[in-house]
Amino acid sequence: MTRPVRTRFAPSPTGFLHLGGARTALFSWAYARRFAGAFVLRVEDTDIERSTPEAVEAILEAMDWLDLGYDEGPFYQTRHMERYRAVIGEMLADGRAYHCYASPAELDAMREEQRAQGVKPRYDGRWRPEPGKTLPAIPAGVPPVVRFRNPIDGAVSWNDLCKGVITIANAELDDLIIARADGTPTYNFCVCVDDWDMRISHVIRGDDHVNNTPRQINILSALGAELPVYAHVPMILGPDGEKLSKRHGAVNVMQYRDDGYLPEALVNYLARLGWSHGDDEIFSREQLVSWFDAEHISRSPAQWDPKKLNWINNHYIKQRSDADLAELIAPRIAALGGELDDIPLAAVVGLFKDRAETLVQLAQNAMLFYRAFAPDHALIATHVTPAIKPVLAEFAARGDKIEWQRAEIAALIKELLAAHGLKMPQLAAPLRVLVSGSAQTPSVDAVLELFGKARVIERVRTGIA
Ligand code: GLU
Repeated sequence: MTRPVRTRFAPSPTGFLHLGGARTALFSWAYARRFAGAFVLRVEDTDIERSTPEAVEAILEAMDWLDLGYDEGPFYQTRHMERYRAVIGEMLADGRAYHCYASPAELDAMREEQRAQGVKPRYDGRWRPEPGKTLPAIPAGVPPVVRFRNPIDGAVSWNDLCKGVITIANAELDDLIIARADGTPTYNFCVCVDDWDMRISHVIRGDDHVNNTPRQINILSALGAELPVYAHVPMILGPDGEKLSKRHGAVNVMQYRDDGYLPEALVNYLARLGWSHGDDEIFSREQLVSWFDAEHISRSPAQWDPKKLNWINNHYIKQRSDADLAELIAPRIAALGGELDDIPLAAVVGLFKDRAETLVQLAQNAMLFYRAFAPDHALIATHVTPAIKPVLAEFAARGDKIEWQRAEIAALIKELLAAHGLKMPQLAAPLRVLVSGSAQTPSVDAVLELFGKARVIERVRTGIA
């Protein structure tokens, strides 16, 4: 029988959720969903100095925003201390682990000597019990650390779903400290106990953890645990080929929300970043779940491409209803100092959404309708020429009597152009400038319709007076 799929996302809450972490979470989530498994959230908060409740909140908020629902958790490692201690106790009792009383100074001296001899510094096993070996006398008053009795011979090997077969000689691995002198368990050990207890079948994580894996496999084997399958996902690079960092722009997932990205766009983009389904660039969450596999996770690092993200975001903005987008940008308009009035925001959104790459842009464009109206005298001087004023007066007079619909407005403009032998911009530009304060707007008839008859007539009349 094949093992039920159980994946986990195991962030250390030392800061916000960054793009790399979000992608790992997404891959783990998608893998669990694809194989009808469970997705577990485990907060690795044993580093008490660096872990904060704010970071936990920030990570949960970001997972929520990306809609990466977990089936179990959040579990907190700090609440599993008893369990880790119990396992360490069992390992000490039957010799899978042992006490080491070497002081830090002693270990420094040991490494110094090894370096002087030109060998790689590593723990020399001085406190490791062996049949027939006499251990040093236990020093008084020195609290020991606990070390894992790593196999001496042979090698650890696993078939990494991203990287292929990786083999590390046990001779390369130290007897890892699994509990510090104060009794607290160490990072790699906690991960093993939890992966075991949580019956994790697939560990999908960043390849910065690949060095931990042989150690973890040895510990898991010593625990008698069924080994998970590992997939170490290559990192994300910035556009310049360096590891993605703040230098390249925002790396905090929530910054993308603030910058006007839709969660479905970021999810689509992150999924495509280091994983592929043929040439598909745009796919829904459902498609992702039905297609996601480890075979198509890229073997080489992915490159962050802000232009592509914007293109994808524009796609998803176009997919959203005008009403939805209106709700999303209303607070942004308020923040920009705009005042929502009788001009329907959803209709305004409809005018601009096709070209908006972010909600920020959409809100900025929508401000054309909601900012405090201030005539731009320079623009007026350029566009509202003495020659055009009578035509504008006629527009106001006749416009006042028509039904205020886009098509009617367009027809009136056309008639006036024909009657006076004018080209479109000669009339459209002054209308735009007088009514909106800007010479660049979407289609003039649509814009005038939205501003409303009373406002348009009033502004045109005042402008030419
Ligand atoms: N807590 C680790 C991190 O945030 C992840 C450990 C793991 O996935 O095994 O980098």
